[in-house]
Amino acid sequence: MNKSKIWLSSPHMGGNEQQFVKEAFDANWVAPLGPNVTGFETDLEQYLADDVFVGALSSGTAAIHLGLVLLGVQPGDEVLCQSMTFSASANPIAYLGATPIFVDSEPETWNICPNALEEAIKDRISKGKKPKAIIAVHLYGMPFKVDAILTLANRYEIPILEDSAEALGSSYQGKKCGTFGALGVLSFNGNKIITTSGGGALVAHSKALKEKAVFLATQARDAAPHYQHSEIGYNYRLSNICAGIGRGQMEVLDAHVQLRRKMHAFYQSELDSVSGILVFTEPSTDFYSNHWLSAIVIDPKKTNGKTRETLRLAFEAENIESRPLWKPMHLQPIFEKYPYYGGTLAANLFENGLCLPSGSNLTDADRSRIASVLTHFKN
Ligand SMILES: *Cc1c(COP(=O)(O)O)cnc(C)c1O
Repeated sequence: MNKSKIWLSSPHMGGNEQQFVKEAFDANWVAPLGPNVTGFETDLEQYLADDVFVGALSSGTAAIHLGLVLLGVQPGDEVLCQSMTFSASANPIAYLGATPIFVDSEPETWNICPNALEEAIKDRISKGKKPKAIIAVHLYGMPFKVDAILTLANRYEIPILEDSAEALGSSYQGKKCGTFGALGVLSFNGNKIITTSGGGALVAHSKALKEKAVFLATQARDAAPHYQHSEIGYNYRLSNICAGIGRGQMEVLDAHVQLRRKMHAFYQSELDSVSGILVFTEPSTDFYSNHWLSAIVIDPKKTNGKTRETLRLAFEAENIESRPLWKPMHLQPIFEKYPYYGGTLAANLFENGLCLPSGSNLTDADRSRIASVLTHFKN
């Protein structure tokens, strides 16, 4: 095949990343600490809100793991988790020997359903165990129903671990995603809206909590000249090299959000009038998605039997990557034995949904290759 590959979401450098990395080499800060780590954290804090404290970590998964540790999750505890998500949202529950309790999504944001969540909370409490935390996800950059979910979290006094790995640059009622939970999680993996090649962050609302996170992320060393430990530690700090990439990426984050949103607008103009195809879009102006990935749902009853798989294979034949939506956790072999609350919404999204190429680095030529596959599918 001689047509170059069009990816779902690939790294897009802004230009100054190498300069920050070079500074790290020049000063010999080739370690999981240094000026780029501090600088990247400051950039993120300034971007997100006035009152947040960010700890840069080696991955978003590490941030979820540490977040659960900081929320006091212990072996045997229960943790509520949006089922429709990437496995990294749920795996750290298992790392801690806790039990995931999965919850269905609602149709507007595809994120955790307030009704199913309340049903789950009440039922777990009636069975004698109050869940320790709620992991809510802003899927594909779409904010979850923040007001409704926060109301439940406050009513039942269960903290939210806000998985904002896909939603840096998104906001709800003008407030940035990542800042709503007791703790927030960001990811800078290679496919995310900005990347440090690999990395993540924990967003806290007090300096003390951030410092505790950094302490645990650097092997929980007590203040002593020798190595002294009173707690279990982790090696989860971000490298100063990777943080240099992050500082360069922060300079172009807003521009990249606009470019991702342009891809979403492109799909709307191509597909909005097509019967049987729904382009995943904000339900109201309260929601502002970075549209990290543009996604659609196909109803084969209205497309003469053409399914999302028909379209996926048509893209594949043209060397264009597309991908089914996340397979819900309660349907995964490793997680299917755990309790699940809700109906079939997440399962149906998985069955009929497709993520489309969404990178901020796609060109007009890429868009016309994509458009010709879509045109063929429509006819
Ligand atoms: C990417 C992602 C993570 C994990 O982040 P890593 O940096 O890859 O460990 C967690 N949750 C969601 C929803 C993600 O998309």
